[in-house]
Amino acid sequence: MKDVGIVYDDIYAEHKTGLMFGHPERPDRVTHAIMKLTEHNMYGEDRKGNFHEITPRLASTKEIELSHSTTLINEIQQAAERASKHQRNILMDGDTPVSGQSYTAALYASGGNFSAIDAIMDGKIKSAFVLCRPPGHHANTGAARGFCLFNNVVLATQYLMREKGLKKIAIIDWDAHAGNGTEDIVYSGVPNTPDDAELLFFSIHQDPRTLYPGTCFPQDIGEGKQKGKIVNITLPPRSGDHCMQLALDQIILPILQKFKPEYLLFSAGFDGHYKDQLTNLGYTSQGYGKIVEKILPIAEEFAKGRMSFTLEGGYNLGAQSNSIVNLMSILSGGAMIIEDDEQDDPRCVEYTENKLIPYLKELLEPYWKEL
Ligand SMILES: [Zn+2]
Repeated sequence: MKDVGIVYDDIYAEHKTGLMFGHPERPDRVTHAIMKLTEHNMYGEDRKGNFHEITPRLASTKEIELSHSTTLINEIQQAAERASKHQRNILMDGDTPVSGQSYTAALYASGGNFSAIDAIMDGKIKSAFVLCRPPGHHANTGAARGFCLFNNVVLATQYLMREKGLKKIAIIDWDAHAGNGTEDIVYSGVPNTPDDAELLFFSIHQDPRTLYPGTCFPQDIGEGKQKGKIVNITLPPRSGDHCMQLALDQIILPILQKFKPEYLLFSAGFDGHYKDQLTNLGYTSQGYGKIVEKILPIAEEFAKGRMSFTLEGGYNLGAQSNSIVNLMSILSGGAMIIEDDEQDDPRCVEYTENKLIPYLKELLEPYWKEL
């Protein structure tokens, strides 16, 4: 069995988004997952010996400034102070509320990703899941948006490159929404990192013509040193595990194999589950674990198995918790625990195989000859 970590603190439930109205990105997303992980002996006093609880640390504003403007950081801090004073949410954009503890929670969300990396790089655990809120992948340098405050996965990338000296990092963003904040920040290279450090960024998401944020198309492949190292895979609505597996086998795995990542980061959103109310994808509760099963040999070959996952979206509590339980079981060397029936629409499989993947190969072949 492998040693795996779960990074969690109750501060992640103190980012209160629904003080004025019901909001889907709500505190019980993480408390429900903790309850289910506890039921399966992966968290709490009765956890199995290879499951480890990790306490997140606070990120410093200096660390956050590597990805975000001082203006944005101050705006969020001041919004939280106003929210606390008036006992109501302050909106950063139309759907991104801040409450009294949100700024602190956001610093612990980014810091929790650093704590995961420390434990993995010290060899205490092999991989870790950071069960944090607020999420991060829609936030860019100057804007908190799409339920996100600070971009946890970019901050984790910078931490690995600056503090741990790693040169090749891969991010896989499997949230149903495009990781547009991540793409914005890294489009021509990861800011404030050594020149010889390289990032490979995959975002596999529902076709943005049909879903927020409406950007991140296959032809957006990065620029400058990042050209060819941004890969947007845009699945049509109703695509399920089969479409995801096709994209993995034909695009993601061959590129990863060539890139040889030293560490893999995952923007792990679970809103692509077929039960999720905000999106139209059709992944099952075992779909995410299946992705990791396929990536594990590459992680073992090049990255000593080092992988960390940061929570992004996921709005059906049961579907998200089941998916996380399966994922943790696979990471720990166990088997899938909860299985749903496959949900792929055959028309999506046909489109993915015969239109989308050939198009992606055509765009990416100049940079990755093995496609
Ligand atoms: Zn999402």
